[in-house]
Amino acid sequence: MPKYDVVIIGSGLGGLFCANILSKEGMSVCVLEKQKHFGGNLQTFKRDGKIFDTGIHYVGGLGEGQNLHQYFKYAGIIDDLKLERLDLDSFDQINFQGKKYAYAQGYDNFIETLAQDFPEEKESLKKYTNEIKKICNEFPLYNVRPNLGKDDEHIYYEKNVGSFINSVTSNRTLQNVLAGNNLLYAGIPDKTPVAIHALITNSLIEGAYRFEDGSHQIADVLIESIQKNGGTLLNDSEVVKLNVGSEKVESAVLKSGEVIEANNFISAIHPTLTLAMTDTHLLRKSYRNRIHDIEETISVFAIYVAFKPDSFPYLNYNYYQFNEDSVWSIPHYDPERWPQEYLFLTLPSSKSKKYAETATAMTYMKYSEVKQWENSSIGKRGDDYEAFKKYKAELLIDQIDKQFPGFKSSITTYYTSTPLSMVSYTGTRNGSIYGIQHDSNEPLKSRIAPRTKIPNLLLSGQNVNLHGVLGVTVGSVLTCTNLLGMEYLLKKIQDA
Ligand SMILES: Cc1cc2nc3c(=O)[nH]c(=O)nc-3n(C[C@H](O)[C@H](O)[C@H](O)COP(=O)(O)OP(=O)(O)OC[C@H]3O[C@@H](n4cnc5c(N)ncnc54)[C@H](O)[C@@H]3O)c2cc1C
Repeated sequence: MPKYDVVIIGSGLGGLFCANILSKEGMSVCVLEKQKHFGGNLQTFKRDGKIFDTGIHYVGGLGEGQNLHQYFKYAGIIDDLKLERLDLDSFDQINFQGKKYAYAQGYDNFIETLAQDFPEEKESLKKYTNEIKKICNEFPLYNVRPNLGKDDEHIYYEKNVGSFINSVTSNRTLQNVLAGNNLLYAGIPDKTPVAIHALITNSLIEGAYRFEDGSHQIADVLIESIQKNGGTLLNDSEVVKLNVGSEKVESAVLKSGEVIEANNFISAIHPTLTLAMTDTHLLRKSYRNRIHDIEETISVFAIYVAFKPDSFPYLNYNYYQFNEDSVWSIPHYDPERWPQEYLFLTLPSSKSKKYAETATAMTYMKYSEVKQWENSSIGKRGDDYEAFKKYKAELLIDQIDKQFPGFKSSITTYYTSTPLSMVSYTGTRNGSIYGIQHDSNEPLKSRIAPRTKIPNLLLSGQNVNLHGVLGVTVGSVLTCTNLLGMEYLLKKIQDA
């Protein structure tokens, strides 16, 4: 094995995007992935020729001139992606207290559309959107500008989203509607930093897109590009240990015993897993304890349904259903009232614009509800686990059928995933949906920098910066600036 410039652990978007940047900039890279398939959450699965998305359903910022578009343009992948823009006048539908509200794309359209339901609240809507834009402007990398440490990002990690929304309007219904997509960030009103709400919402209002025939295409084009740049990717290669010398990491050890050497290491997996692999005094106990003690976001239960041919329409929007009188479900999570909310969406297929082949629905679930089966391997969890999944899936299906009559009778088959599936496939702690839970009450405790006290070990992935396609892409750029220089890399990206 050669000695690489950089070994990257994990082939989710975080690992692949870092590998793409570094190989493009002339470094020799090797990506190590424990699974058979590359891509982490970008993976889709295929049954009977039908494609199911697992961990990416829609993203923002992919329009010409927008942030993710520019990052993907630099990466050389934007023209290879098959995108479907969501409904301009209603990319998200929020069903709260039995009435549907639409989020529209474009700020003026967003305001005008919601003002039809809240005519008295037009000024509040303007205030809300102006504040969102103002917050986002404080994030240089989000705006494809070099981060020279002069901006006020941190302020917006110290304020919580609940009080922010309440400060723009006292109308309780509008407060809930504006928080209606909080499943996208596992929102907790008095904890989630307003930054997270603003960065995600802004990118979607600017331009909301789905991936036709599945999100694995992002992984496919990144892998092709890395290979073209001379990079190496190894699957079935679980890293179990990092050999740390007196000053730096020397090599990564695979489960097979193979040792891979490099000058630099980027770990794009959960930071607690990275720390568990590094037995060294270079990382202080206080750092280890801080990372270990960060709370995780809640987990998720999902169903993936296949439809009979030409039976269920393709819906060019995402549908959020709330069954209670607050859209902030996490603080009131109660398995007895499950599902308290869900997100339902259809996957765009190149075979038909009119009908959907598959759909996904997801809702929160706590790891504790499936913990009793954690020690059995996949496929061997027994009849009671299967019965649990079936019971939950049917509850969810019945609920969706009430809102979309004909849904249930259109299904040919369905699959489920539980918090245990999340642990198996991505290695997040307790199957957390988006990794760590940022906390505006203790902002520094829950922010993880790419640099560690081991000079040649960097972190990346959704726990650095932010989760989601946009968050992880920006986080990867941030990580790579540590090897390439902030101004150099951002200039390359701006000039792409
Ligand atoms: C159900 C769900 C729906 C989502 N929907 C959206 C959405 O619509 N839009 C959006 O933008 N975001 C969405 N997200 C979030 C988004 O998927 C993630 O934030 C992002 O993909 C995380 O990328 P990552 O590279 O950090 O991690 P991952 O994708 O988790 O990749 C980590 C990789 O590391 C590998 N690995 C772990 N340990 C080791 C080891 N020891 N050695 C080698 N490899 C290892 C894993 O196998 C995995 O491939 C969703 C997430 C979930 C769970």
